[in-house]
Amino acid sequence: MKIICIGRNYADHAKEMKSAVPTEPLYFLKPDTAILREGDFYYPNFTKDLHFECELVVKIDRVGKHIEQAFAHKYYSEFSLGIDFTARDIQEHCKANGLPWEKAKGFDSSAVLSNKWINKNDVDLSTAEFTFYQNDVLKQTGHPRDFIFSIDEIISYVSQFMTLKTGDLIYTGTPAGVGPIQIGDQLRGELNGEPFFALSVK
Ligand code: MG
Repeated sequence: MKIICIGRNYADHAKEMKSAVPTEPLYFLKPDTAILREGDFYYPNFTKDLHFECELVVKIDRVGKHIEQAFAHKYYSEFSLGIDFTARDIQEHCKANGLPWEKAKGFDSSAVLSNKWINKNDVDLSTAEFTFYQNDVLKQTGHPRDFIFSIDEIISYVSQFMTLKTGDLIYTGTPAGVGPIQIGDQLRGELNGEPFFALSVK
């Protein structure tokens, strides 16, 4: 199983990162060891600037390669919510030196994933909203209608390079509002007002 993460898929987040809006999907991978279900997140000692990025997650449920955009919808049926934890200090070092991002993005427990999934037929992506709270303070509000690249575009694009397999996950990018976490924080995410994940930072 692989975790495909899309970078800069919301114009407002690209702007806050002072990054250009991409003209084709930008993706990177996390290993399966990055998955963290609900519970405790232990702040790693290799970073001093660990950021949350709350993201809608799509689960691939059919094997495919070279998927045409018109058929991409046949390759997923469920959504969830998670966090793409990012060691921002390490990522900035990688960016400045032209290095890959895995060290900043693919560490253990860097991919928070809810245990809850919702059928795509029960979510209208033109109106869906997800929210992320740090210590009960609203930090991020995301609307999938603001995606620069739709889920179908992402699936079609990525599958030109890599075969998608059943169980693969796509983290679809984060909206504006990312920020640092601290030990002692309580983090939670909701999709359409329903709780999806909650965790403590230790
Ligand atoms: Mg992200």
